Amino acid sequence: MKNTPFIAFLLAVVCIGVVNFQQLNAQELNPNKVTYPSYQTESRTNIVYPKVSGFTVLSCDFHTHTMFSDGLVWPTQRVAEAWLGGMDALAITDHIEYRPYRQYTNNDHNTSHEIAIPAAAHTGLILIKGTEITRTQRTIGHFNALFIEDANKIAVDDPKESIKEAKRQGAFVMWNHPGWAVDSTYIKDFQADLFKDGLIDGIEVYNNTEFYPRVLSWAIDKNLAIIATTDVHGYVESGTLQKNGVQRPVTLVLVKENSAKGIREALDSRRTLAFFQNILAAREDVAKMFVDANITAKKVHSDGKTIFINVTNNGSAHYEMQSGNKLYAIPALSSVIVTTPETDKKFINVNFKNIYIYENKTLAHDLYFN
Ligand SMILES: [Zn+2]
Ligand SMILES: [Zn+2]
Repeated sequence: MKNTPFIAFLLAVVCIGVVNFQQLNAQELNPNKVTYPSYQTESRTNIVYPKVSGFTVLSCDFHTHTMFSDGLVWPTQRVAEAWLGGMDALAITDHIEYRPYRQYTNNDHNTSHEIAIPAAAHTGLILIKGTEITRTQRTIGHFNALFIEDANKIAVDDPKESIKEAKRQGAFVMWNHPGWAVDSTYIKDFQADLFKDGLIDGIEVYNNTEFYPRVLSWAIDKNLAIIATTDVHGYVESGTLQKNGVQRPVTLVLVKENSAKGIREALDSRRTLAFFQNILAAREDVAKMFVDANITAKKVHSDGKTIFINVTNNGSAHYEMQSGNKLYAIPALSSVIVTTPETDKKFINVNFKNIYIYENKTLAHDLYFN
């Protein structure tokens, strides 16, 4: 028969199909137990930024809690949440003094970090050892000690001695939420004394849901690292923030080396930006460097009267940019067309309305196009 090869082919297909179907049936219809595959359904939301003057931008949260103080999650859950949320580095900073669940955990202040170590290693998340020194907010305040060796030795009565012990261990000390639970933000005697002795290295301009514009000015004037943190106790808020296109608060750190050592060097050199509620807060030179890497401008057309410029945001931050009397929203990884009257100049004067470089001062910048 002329069609023999074709029929043989068809039979083969049918037979293979039957065999496969029977194999499938044998697996699925096991009357004792049907095991379904385990899907890896959780995936990391990547936060992307181009290199900034040769520095890599890392997303870091330097202030979080677990059940080993007054947090509601286990340390491994804190690590998983940070990694899935796009963080590159995390510090678990449980309170030394406030541990309502201590009868269920233990009295060793190093435990939450130790539990988190393998979980962080499995994802490549950089884990920084820290703790929160937690004293009366109105008179003394709360301080995170990062890059410490032994949190137990920091548990001493005198608050200044506690901070000095952290320093002896080589800690980076930051003043937490200076405006939390107080009516007005000001520097008290205790903190003035710490500044005098050079014991404070960084400061939170943003904590959880609070922005302290005045504290940004202190950070600039006193040359402190500018920090934003979640200070999360339960889960990091995602629902409404996500719907509004807002990321979790984060400190962007410009590192030479992608490691804990690299983060420490960058913090000591004050190369940080606080990013929260789609607002950036940074010292002016760092902000300009960041914008120059993230925002690129290219002339696409000129009709003799008007120049049309494509302005592209190459990173995950959001910008609100004023040019002339127009305000442009430039979401993460998107472009807008900016128009300007015909000129010989190769740049436009813009103002980034969501980049604060001082209390009530936003970043004015020349945006070069080619
Ligand atoms: Zn606190
Ligand atoms: Zn805290």
